[in-house]
Amino acid sequence: MRTQDGRAVRRRQNLDVISVKRNPYLVDYEEQKRLRRAVNESIQRPSGEPNRRKRTSSGGANGRNRRSVDLIDINSERPHAVPDRRRQNPAAKKAMQKRRKRQRRRRRMIAAAWILCLFMIGWLIVVKKGEASKQNDITQEVLTVQEEEPDIFSGSVQGIPAKVFAKHPMWAEDFLPLNEYSRPGETLPEVRDIFVHYTANPETSAAQNRSYFEQQKDMHEASVSAHFIIGYDGEIIQCVPLDEIAYAVQTRNYDSVSIECCYKAKDGSFTQETYDSLISLLAWLTDVYDLDTSHILRHYDCGGKKCPLYYTEHEDAWMQLKKDVEDAQGSVFLL
Ligand SMILES: [Zn+2]
Repeated sequence: MRTQDGRAVRRRQNLDVISVKRNPYLVDYEEQKRLRRAVNESIQRPSGEPNRRKRTSSGGANGRNRRSVDLIDINSERPHAVPDRRRQNPAAKKAMQKRRKRQRRRRRMIAAAWILCLFMIGWLIVVKKGEASKQNDITQEVLTVQEEEPDIFSGSVQGIPAKVFAKHPMWAEDFLPLNEYSRPGETLPEVRDIFVHYTANPETSAAQNRSYFEQQKDMHEASVSAHFIIGYDGEIIQCVPLDEIAYAVQTRNYDSVSIECCYKAKDGSFTQETYDSLISLLAWLTDVYDLDTSHILRHYDCGGKKCPLYYTEHEDAWMQLKKDVEDAQGSVFLL
């Protein structure tokens, strides 16, 4: 094997070259000295002498000698042991630099991809959390709305329990604008009496009388209003909420509710429609405020003004009116 042919030897040489290149410290100091000597000898030897083949073919050469010869040959070709070809070759150096550059770029791209992935994961977590939180808020809101869903029969309207308020006679709610002449917006703290009036202006409608109240905010003729106006066709307009005062009876504005009635007849008597609506409204109000009919008063009963004219002159009609209210009471408590 040792002497088979030159190829086997060259392969062996190459292997040794590789081993020397990879770890030059395998050759210790003494070895290096010996090698250096051998190099010098080989330089001094005549050039025609086949140095390598002669040594390798010698039957007595052991492995160590063979290796020495191989290294001598190598060193004779390249005296400075283990040279780096790439350092010597600018093209190789450039290629190496390019390769390193590519590697660096690849590493940067991988790092960027990782950062991007982490950012995306973080972003997804935040978004998911946000959505979950939002969903929770919506759910909470829905639950709150469901919990707070207004019961039309709970709470109060115009200071009256909603359940009772819902049973009021049909009326048109058309509040006056807030103004100091007809609707000051002041709270009505209590209701002790219900006052009945007449408009003192025959054949004027409920709407016209409401308009008159409203005009006071500009005309400033008088402080006048009422919570309700009943037209001669029986229609009812609410001008002032029941939890606010109206200007109707000078000394009783803060503890009473007032009703104005329209009329056509010269004697001031009401039409049947007006009368029927008045009875319904009085029955409901006295029920709401828990009043008996003795608390239904004429304007006349407080200050002596001839209002409502007909009922100041016809006491029996007034007594009948209160009796009719009595008969109509109790409807708001019937379920
Ligand atoms: Zn009056």
